[in-house]
Amino acid sequence: MTAGTAKDSADRAAKPVAPKRRAKRMGLSGRVAMIAVAAAFFAALAQWVVTPIMAQGEIRYQRQTAVFAGANLLADVARIHVEAGHWDEIGKLVDALSVGMPDGQSAVFDKDWKLIAKDGAVERLPPQRQMAALAADASAVMVEGERYYAARPIVSNGVLYGYAVYSFEPRAFLDIWLWVVALNAIVLSLVLLAIAPLIYRLARHALKPVTDLEKRIRMRDPKDKSKLADSSDDKLLKPLLTAIDGVHDRSEAAMRRALTMAYTDPVTRLPNRLRFMSKLDGTVAGGGVVFLVICDLDRFRQVNVTYGPRVADLALATTAERLRAAASQTLTLPFFFGRIGADQFGVILPGAGREAVDSVIAAMEAAVSGVMVIDEQALRVTARFGAAASPEDAANGGDLLKQAEVALKEAKRQTGTKHAFFDRKLLDKARAQSRLEEEVREGLERGEFVAVYQPKVKLETGELVGAEALARWRRPDGMAVSPGVFIPIAEELGLIAKLGKQVMQDACLAAAGWNRRGIVSSVAVNVSPHQFDDPDFVNSVYRALDESGLPPNLLELEITESAAVADPDRVARTMWPLRNRGVRLAIDDFGTGHSNFAAITRLPFDVFKIDQQFVRALSTDPHAPAIVEMILAMAEALGQETVAEGVETKEQADFLLRRACTIGQGYYYSPPLPAAEFDAFVRSYRPRPADRFAA
Ligand code: C2E
Ligand code: MG
Ligand code: MG
Repeated sequence: MTAGTAKDSADRAAKPVAPKRRAKRMGLSGRVAMIAVAAAFFAALAQWVVTPIMAQGEIRYQRQTAVFAGANLLADVARIHVEAGHWDEIGKLVDALSVGMPDGQSAVFDKDWKLIAKDGAVERLPPQRQMAALAADASAVMVEGERYYAARPIVSNGVLYGYAVYSFEPRAFLDIWLWVVALNAIVLSLVLLAIAPLIYRLARHALKPVTDLEKRIRMRDPKDKSKLADSSDDKLLKPLLTAIDGVHDRSEAAMRRALTMAYTDPVTRLPNRLRFMSKLDGTVAGGGVVFLVICDLDRFRQVNVTYGPRVADLALATTAERLRAAASQTLTLPFFFGRIGADQFGVILPGAGREAVDSVIAAMEAAVSGVMVIDEQALRVTARFGAAASPEDAANGGDLLKQAEVALKEAKRQTGTKHAFFDRKLLDKARAQSRLEEEVREGLERGEFVAVYQPKVKLETGELVGAEALARWRRPDGMAVSPGVFIPIAEELGLIAKLGKQVMQDACLAAAGWNRRGIVSSVAVNVSPHQFDDPDFVNSVYRALDESGLPPNLLELEITESAAVADPDRVARTMWPLRNRGVRLAIDDFGTGHSNFAAITRLPFDVFKIDQQFVRALSTDPHAPAIVEMILAMAEALGQETVAEGVETKEQADFLLRRACTIGQGYYYSPPLPAAEFDAFVRSYRPRPADRFAA
């Protein structure tokens, strides 16, 4: 883990803590109380904003009234002085008034608008014309800037003596408003602070049903399946609880679906490996004898390749059902069946005896091998079984599976029986096998695999016509290992393509050399069906030909009959381009596969190689001559060359020639030889023609 991600995860871990703590400090009631207080505060604030806007007309009116009152008072008092003839007293009057009305300012004029007296604070008076207009209208007020003006005539007994002008500048509206708002806010805050606990208590009381419910939901036993909605008749809560029940039901259903999906194989609907292993662990841990049988389908990958994944899935599902049915019909005790791999199934048999396990394996073996028809295509699968028992072979589920796999591997190695039980000796064998596998891998890296060459002879004349390249493993300890041992390992480990390419290169180089020296012309190379999986196969053959300079018609590829029959379309797809370049194709070990003649005759073969077991049996098995004759007749009818393998005696060669076989290969002529010895053999070779008329 990098420092960055460590920090991230630390952040992630730290984050949820803060809100959790806050949530604990303030419960639902606290939050509601807070909201109430905040709402009250903001409502008041809104009102304080709106009130002065609405009161503006009234305020103006009040101010006008005040300025009128000032002007009237000034005019009245001035009139009294005038009536008394005390004009000189008017200055004092004006001063006195300015003391009594601190915001107001007064001025008195004679009837010709000559100033008689004015308050010291008056700096600038409106023009005479405006003052005269004000004095003429009893309801007129003049506003200049923030200052209000009113003027009244001084009249006594119908005689005009002068004018009284009064003005005042009220305090700025904003100042007053701010001041009032600040005061109000302080008062409101204090009040709210004082009543907050009460609001809190009220909220708590009002929310009690909800907080009780919250507590109940949190403390609820997960196993409690009762509906929350049934626990309350509260009109407000009931719909809420019904909604919670709905959400809960839906999420439980989703959870169940997810669990089913996580533990079920979608193709066979059987428990999957995860579920199977947990069941196996539990059963083994429970004690007592537990048998585990695992079943592996043979070459199921081939079914996938040949018929496509849809048919292969259906075949798997059918096979699974057959296996399960066979087990349930045979067993009286409960068992557990699941899919544990792509083409593997497993059966857990707690408390079963060895006999019961034997019979269940036999039943499953029989059930699996029946032909099934899918999409009008008949296909057949076969399977191998491995079994192990706890506590004898393993103490836990994982080990028990491992031991059953060891037994399965043994069953795969065996010919004849299709099942094996775990045995301690198998472990050693399995270990030796893995060692061998490792050695094959290393041997291939070190170039320990070489080709040897076995001559092929024209029966009639005895002349050498070609050779078959056969792989040999020369181990560092000097031991030569036969292909029967290492070819299956190389196939299983996916190394056959590499090995095949090495043999192909060696063989092409050797044959090109012979060709130049005018000896044996053609070379045959064996091809494993696994090599068809290698997309580079066809090109690697072209490369071997190009690099060696061997003409393509001098190369022959041998494909076993069983490989050709298993997937004729694939063989044809791979082989046609090579055939078109002139490479010859031979069908090897003919007679040993389950021949599908229709398929084989459609394939581009030039040569039939009769398997050595028929040649060997010629003298011992009374049916062998008939089989060989039949193969030869068929090859002749198809116009194909025939090679008899394993010719060890002159009698065999004579018989084969009599039956129109063209070429022989076997110890009678020569065993396979290393490249270096092959030249010497050819040089000293004396043809051994077979005798058509020998008895
Ligand atoms: P095959 O292609 O049918 O090869 C013939 C086998 O018969 C060879 O066995 C050869 O040594 C053996 N043989 C030849 N003459 C006689 C005889 O007169 N009597 C008896 N009893 N046996 C004889 P080998 O070399 O052990 O090869 C076994 C099989 O291994 C081959 O059967 C072939 O299928 C496979 N194989 C060999 N080399 C390669 C290779 O390079 N690639 C692939 N894919 N398979 C190979
Ligand atoms: Mg061969
Ligand atoms: Mg053969």
